[in-house]
Amino acid sequence: MRILITGGAGFLGSHLCERLLNEGHDVLCMDNFFTGRKANIAHLLPNPNFELFRHDVIDPFKAEVDRIYNLACPASPPHYQYNAIKTIKTSVMGAINVLGLAKRTRARVFQASTSEVYGDPEVHPQPETYWGHVNPIGIRSCYDEGKRVAETLFFDYHRQNGVDIRVVRIFNTYGPRMLPDDGRVVSNFIVQALRGQNITIYGDGSQTRSFCYVDDLIEGFVRLMETPGITGPINIGNPGEFTMLQLAEQVLKKIGGPSKITFHPLPSDDPKQRRPDITLAKTHLGWEPKVPLEEGLDRTIAYFKTVVAV
Ligand code: NAD
Ligand code: UDP
Repeated sequence: MRILITGGAGFLGSHLCERLLNEGHDVLCMDNFFTGRKANIAHLLPNPNFELFRHDVIDPFKAEVDRIYNLACPASPPHYQYNAIKTIKTSVMGAINVLGLAKRTRARVFQASTSEVYGDPEVHPQPETYWGHVNPIGIRSCYDEGKRVAETLFFDYHRQNGVDIRVVRIFNTYGPRMLPDDGRVVSNFIVQALRGQNITIYGDGSQTRSFCYVDDLIEGFVRLMETPGITGPINIGNPGEFTMLQLAEQVLKKIGGPSKITFHPLPSDDPKQRRPDITLAKTHLGWEPKVPLEEGLDRTIAYFKTVVAV
């Protein structure tokens, strides 16, 4: 098949490009390189089945394709808050553009949504039926509400125009090719420990997240895309839940060195807890995560050792 991946030069996108090329597909990687890097996909450039387009998803894109994975959007809070208006435009206009392309080409189209649609959840763990608890005017809203509108657009194009959609709600994912200065917690803690800098916990470290290793997530993406008769939304994530203090301690134990744990103000609207209910993914996709945090951290630390000057 010919497959378009928007945001294909980013962390998740580059792993997806690699996976789909290995399966023998033609991959069109589109990216504006806001948080993506050529280094993430440089090894794919010699592959004749790989094409790279510098393009912004807020502008229409013409191509004849069979599948579209829409991943274009900065995912780390410092990056998506850097230009909040651009973040909303990316989610909303990006969704309209990929849906328009899917409608014309009759391609199946996949939206990378997020656990952030649940906001600061009052239901725990979060099933797909939970409508969420999102502040519409806060500093995270450009991302959360942008992704919620994108989901709405996907379902309206599906109902109104019969577009074949897949919507995944991704929970915190980590692994090789995260940017060292990405700002997300796993990369921050690992890079800080490798550099012997203090570990920065925001708040008292009692907030929780559930961390999924990238290979598990990509397997879930492909299963969802290729399973007939299912639209989602469907949670993909690892239900193993950890406090940020536990994460910091694990990273320090693995890397050692002089780093100390330090506490800093909690950003506003920071969700207190998050854990996916993955019953739907298990039932409909036969999917569940295979890589525990212990092992995923080892692989991620090994990667950062190769890219971070210590
Ligand atoms: P990332 O920042 O590494 O990748 C995003 C990619 O999109 C980058 O290559 C960036 O340059 C590109 N991009 C951003 N704005 C664009 C635009 N306007 N036009 C074209 N390209 C643009 O982040 P990621 O972790 O790989 O996330 C990929 C997708 O998955 C995002 O949509 C994100 O919201 C979603 N997601 C990720 C996680 C996670 O934990 N990694 C969790 C929930 C949702
Ligand atoms: N966090 C932290 N120290 C950091 C970066 C993040 O304690 O250096 C916290 C952050 O406040 C949040 C959690 O770790 O409670 C996860 O943050 P991340 O940005 O990775 O993901 P998100 O908040 O979008 O789930």
